[in-house]
Amino acid sequence: MTESKNTKISVKLLCLALALVLAAVAGYSFYDQRHYKETVVVSDALTDVRWLSDYVPELEGTFGDTPIFVFDSGVEGGSLLYCGGTHPYEPATSLSAFIMMENIQVEKGVVYVIPQCSFSATTLGVQGNAYPPYFTIETEWGEQKYKIGERNTNPLDQWPDNFTYINYPSGQSQAYNDLRNLNRCYPGRLDGTFTERVAYAIMEFIRTEEIDISIDSHEASIMYPVVGTYVAHQNAENIAMMASMDLTGNGIFDMKYEASPNSLKGFTHREWGDYSDTLAILMETPEPFIDRIVGPITEDLMMTGQDLFLSFAGDKGLTYVEYSEENNYSWPMEVRVGRHLTGAAKCLEYLPMFYPEKEVIATWPSYDELVEQGCGAFLHDPSTADPNQVYEIYCERYEYKGPIASKEEPAAEEPAAEEPAVEEPVAEEPAAEEPAVEEPVAEEPAAEEPAAEEPAAEEPAAEEPVAEESAAEEPAAEEPAAEEAAA
Ligand SMILES: [Zn+2]
Repeated sequence: MTESKNTKISVKLLCLALALVLAAVAGYSFYDQRHYKETVVVSDALTDVRWLSDYVPELEGTFGDTPIFVFDSGVEGGSLLYCGGTHPYEPATSLSAFIMMENIQVEKGVVYVIPQCSFSATTLGVQGNAYPPYFTIETEWGEQKYKIGERNTNPLDQWPDNFTYINYPSGQSQAYNDLRNLNRCYPGRLDGTFTERVAYAIMEFIRTEEIDISIDSHEASIMYPVVGTYVAHQNAENIAMMASMDLTGNGIFDMKYEASPNSLKGFTHREWGDYSDTLAILMETPEPFIDRIVGPITEDLMMTGQDLFLSFAGDKGLTYVEYSEENNYSWPMEVRVGRHLTGAAKCLEYLPMFYPEKEVIATWPSYDELVEQGCGAFLHDPSTADPNQVYEIYCERYEYKGPIASKEEPAAEEPAAEEPAVEEPVAEEPAAEEPAVEEPVAEEPAAEEPAAEEPAAEEPAAEEPVAEESAAEEPAAEEPAAEEAAA
């Protein structure tokens, strides 16, 4: 009797131990992806590093903040913004930004690069899919590891999802999960959701720096019509059309052009142009990795773009770019990165044809060079590089290494971060005793954030309740209006 009881207890303890081990292993992978830092060796053309929070201080210390790298020639001219990582599960975008940053030289005007626009979305993998969290690039000096993130903001930063998402200020009703999609949340607002605040900060940056031309890079599944395409706001249509004709007509690579529909709200190619004076262009490269019908979603698929299932669709002409035996059924990483780099360069080339005063002269590796030599040939070894040029892409300033990050800031920020951490529990407890209703909605997300974010928690702790309350209230207020419009 006691023996069987002991056995039962032992089995239960064993199961509990096993569960704890599995939880620890799973938990580590989440923690690792939330905190992994991508490394980039920036070219000597770098003149400054700024942050989104320089333009919207409310983002400081949150996973919405992200660095902006500035390459100023010192020669009067125009300005370019190149964006990667709006959707971090489209990583040829951020990798093209990194390769641009590692090799850029600027002769005229200023180039701004934001390699991870939606930083929060880089901190988890695609939910509900067994995606590999990283990919590696082989180089002569070793391997460099980069993140494959999500499409949307991490729920740790913005949660819960409403049943509806209504774009502000257009009132257009959109898919509920686009509430966390940066490229549906423009022009954004300061007192909106986390994602809307990031969108607003990017708009503020564009408006403050009076950016002349802004390029938002994306990747698309090859069964999606807008792939291998420029989508341009009407103010940039001439430039995008010329670039498209040049690339396609001269046989560099096929690149389509589409006009940004005026009725499609929340996108960069629409709202950047409507809510600032910038010339707004979005670019899409083919990324078979995110097609719905592919087989195993592996790092190999990310890097080679080859998939057997997709090849059947390609053979039947169901894909919007060529996917045939002729090209080995592939859209490898170096082709996609090369397309982004030359796609952006072509836009710059045609900019002065229409706006001579906005000319920017800058060089970085081309499509042909990427295809011939691969991505690794254009990445530099951080261990032998000048430490002043080695940067880690991470959102918390005090973690930031590099010559531009002020040495005074860490000292100033850290104590400030510790104090509110102590105050918070005090503030929360009374709230917990009195109204039971308010707390769960407003405070849980703040409380859930990992310990590493404590400095981050201080500001959002004060703001999030406000932000989320408004997020919850506003759709309710706007819905009738949207329905009327629809009707
Ligand atoms: Zn995208």
